[in-house]
Amino acid sequence: MVGTRNVPGYTFGRGSITKFLEYFDEYLSGIGSCITILDIFFQDSNLRDRLSSQARNHLVICDSAHEPSTEGIDNIVTEYEARYGQEKPVAIIGIGGGSALDTAKAVSNLLGNGGRAENYQGWDLLKSPGVYKIGIPTISGTGAEASRTCVLINARKNLKMGMNSDYSLFDHLVLDPELTRTVPRDQYFFTGMDTFIHCVESLHGHHRHAVADAYSREALRLCSEVFDTSAEDMQSEQNRERLMVASYLGGSAIANSLVGVVHPFSAGLTVAYGIHHCLANCIVMDTMEEFYPEAVTQFRRMLIRNSITLPHGICSSMDTEIAEKLYQGTIIHEKPLANALGADFRSVLTRDRVLKLFSRM
Ligand code: NAD
Ligand code: ZN
Repeated sequence: MVGTRNVPGYTFGRGSITKFLEYFDEYLSGIGSCITILDIFFQDSNLRDRLSSQARNHLVICDSAHEPSTEGIDNIVTEYEARYGQEKPVAIIGIGGGSALDTAKAVSNLLGNGGRAENYQGWDLLKSPGVYKIGIPTISGTGAEASRTCVLINARKNLKMGMNSDYSLFDHLVLDPELTRTVPRDQYFFTGMDTFIHCVESLHGHHRHAVADAYSREALRLCSEVFDTSAEDMQSEQNRERLMVASYLGGSAIANSLVGVVHPFSAGLTVAYGIHHCLANCIVMDTMEEFYPEAVTQFRRMLIRNSITLPHGICSSMDTEIAEKLYQGTIIHEKPLANALGADFRSVLTRDRVLKLFSRM
């Protein structure tokens, strides 16, 4: 038996963002304060001007060059409270990729639960719902819009981990494929591959169940169309729409199940070298043929088909300190590793084997 939750509502389709902005103007006037986390790409856009025109909107530009951190979330809450005291915002809106979306979720959680962000890294540690939150993805793939986590780097503890909780689900999504039109080609591919990898991992895990499998299969079918079989460019209008749906479904699949071997290794790369999640996933995926042979073959074909090249030789000069960070940053992710390899995963993934795999990246 399985019990779970998904995002309760969404608005989908071209033009959804325009409708949302009308609602935003109307809804905010007179009701209370609001926080908007906006990706840095939009800092000089009409969208920013429109959001800034509301005096009681606390606008935070999310510099997604750095993945969200526990410290960054604590700072946003402190700044908000310095301006508004204990008055809670009526809504938090995240507009951007996984970084802005996760930042919005984490700020909402912290405002609802108090303390520091790192207190809630783990599973089901949040005790109360946060502030009502709206997610507006501008790049497709992480599924952060639909998942029940928000992933944060904790520099003090040297780890990257999510606040995994039903309270990390958005309350509403605005899914407008027009927003992804401007995403650079490589980034579009790397982030899109996050959906592919989530679903491959989910379908190969022990925590499978029929609903998550159905989400994953359809998301994989859409990814295959976008990156592998479509006669159009991967960023055509139709493919951007397909990928937005795939991302949502992939996030819903993960909200219902768990990732596998790729994500823990990817987190190791992020902790040791600061490589971003989606690029790190792709670098790892290229070495995973012993765990996911068919998917790796398809992944390599999609790289070639879309003329994407991966960086190589990243771990070629691994000193003892980096090796330790890589190993610890990977093996700490017990749940996904056990999902993929069973409770005895440490005997399969020995330190030697982990470092050998990294040395190929
Ligand atoms: P991102 O948010 O890090 O953004 C990547 C780049 O794309 C940035 O330079 C950003 O400015 C740019 N960008 C965003 N939208 C754009 C647009 N419309 N046009 C042009 N440029 C645009 O990207 P991401 O890959 O979506 O997210 C990665 C983050 O997501 C990581 O922090 C990762 O840990 C997190 N993540 C979360 C989950 C989850 O379930 N919560 C799952 C996977 C990954
Ligand atoms: Zn991911």
